[in-house]
Amino acid sequence: MSNDRPMWIANEHVTASRGAWIDSEDPATEAVIGRVPAGGAADVERAVAAARAASTGWRYTAANDRAELMHEAVARSHAHAGQLVELLTREQGKAKPEQEEEVEWSLTSLRYYAELGRNGSGRVIPSGEPETQLNLVLKEPYGVVGAIVPWNFPLLLLAWKLAPALAAGNTVVIKPSELTSLITLEWIESCFGHFPPGVINVVTGTGVDAGEALVAHPDVRVIAMTGSVPTGQRIASVAAPMMKHLHLELGGKDAFVVGPDADLDSAADALAYSALFNAGQVCTSSERIYVPAAMRDDFAEAVTAKVATLRLGSGLDPAVDIGPMAADRFRDKVDHHIRESVGRGARVLVGGGKPERTGYFYEPTVMVDVDDDHLIMQDETFGPVIPIASYERFDEVIDRVNSHPMGLGACLRSSDPLAIKRFYEHVKAGTIWINDPLTDNYAGPFGGMKLTGGGRELGPEGLETFLETKHVHWDFSQAPKDWWYPY
Ligand code: NAD
Repeated sequence: MSNDRPMWIANEHVTASRGAWIDSEDPATEAVIGRVPAGGAADVERAVAAARAASTGWRYTAANDRAELMHEAVARSHAHAGQLVELLTREQGKAKPEQEEEVEWSLTSLRYYAELGRNGSGRVIPSGEPETQLNLVLKEPYGVVGAIVPWNFPLLLLAWKLAPALAAGNTVVIKPSELTSLITLEWIESCFGHFPPGVINVVTGTGVDAGEALVAHPDVRVIAMTGSVPTGQRIASVAAPMMKHLHLELGGKDAFVVGPDADLDSAADALAYSALFNAGQVCTSSERIYVPAAMRDDFAEAVTAKVATLRLGSGLDPAVDIGPMAADRFRDKVDHHIRESVGRGARVLVGGGKPERTGYFYEPTVMVDVDDDHLIMQDETFGPVIPIASYERFDEVIDRVNSHPMGLGACLRSSDPLAIKRFYEHVKAGTIWINDPLTDNYAGPFGGMKLTGGGRELGPEGLETFLETKHVHWDFSQAPKDWWYPY
């Protein structure tokens, strides 16, 4: 096969020790577009050894020099952006403008952390004996970081780990998703090849084989992972005996609340974006919609009218709004959620099925008469569906938003300051979006509460994750202390 893509360890191509391969498909055509090695424990061992060998050199590379290498990766990525967007679209599926945005966001992350990393870390604190003592709080890199990445934003969610981990002075072993390994290898090889060998390594393979071997490796002190709650729970249990530092960004079931004062047309437009971006395969997709009962019919009509205009097709087609889902099994889950809800009284207003065509497409769908105990309001659907429920009182809806065990984000449409303040103070979620859903700010931490894991990416918090704190208590004299033996 011509498009076999080896792993990348210590700036060299490596095929898996056991010789097996994983196919990568274009979800719009169902064609195999390449293969990556099905790596396992032996390959992880090799990558971690390379990362460990590079670790001391990278830690003592001046922060300014690290920053320049990161900026050079940005320049190389810009020069290569056309190919990156093309392959990202072919392997992952979402519409091209969304892929272009993903590449640019990823580079912003590199730029942001390159600069943040130049600033000093740690502090000097007052000593108990100020004339003869110095007390330092140091922020040190952990050493080797394992970065485990999902397929929905394979470059962005890698960049949110890679950039701060490197800026903090760690070396990194990346385990991309099985679905998006080609684009990960392409980006790292073509744009980060100027880093010293071993600083950045990529091991491909399944989560159970390559992923778990990385989590279990004693020399990997930090696991930074974005993915589903069950995978995060499994990683936590494997890592627990070694007391590893875990940074978990897990699933979401975000609510989108239409306030009683909201303008319905603009709320419908905002919702179509926040629920259907990347075919609904976003951790912060709006998956539970709450609208005042008196406004429900008008709102559902406005949303349906908007969704009916959206064009489904290959992400490479510039006239397309919504691409395919990333794999067939994901649309089966969407279909199951819709059927379960319809079986319990919900109505589909538009969409609700797999179109008759090649590719893993699912029709963007609007539903009403859903209840909070339907699967579609409980389980993460991760697809292009807008299930609309109604509420009577604003207080009641805040309780319903909080009744879900996940707490990633929540959206509100309102201009009523009392309602807004009440919402952001009482909703248990890591990001609250008021009127501008799903917008990130690089200086603002991103992550979830409750079952979503509690890790934070972006902002200074995203750098702190990759730094270990050490207190140095230094007495310049060797004089004995009064409180030593004998008493
Ligand atoms: P997933 O949990 O199936 O896989 C994520 C990564 O973990 C993949 O690289 C996979 O190979 C690896 N993995 C799987 N089993 C493993 C194991 N036992 N040990 C180590 N690694 C293992 O998730 P996915 O389907 O790739 O992504 C979708 C999920 O990610 C959704 O639940 C979504 O909400 C979540 N997500 C969360 C955020 C966030 O910031 N909170 C962002 C994007 C996606």
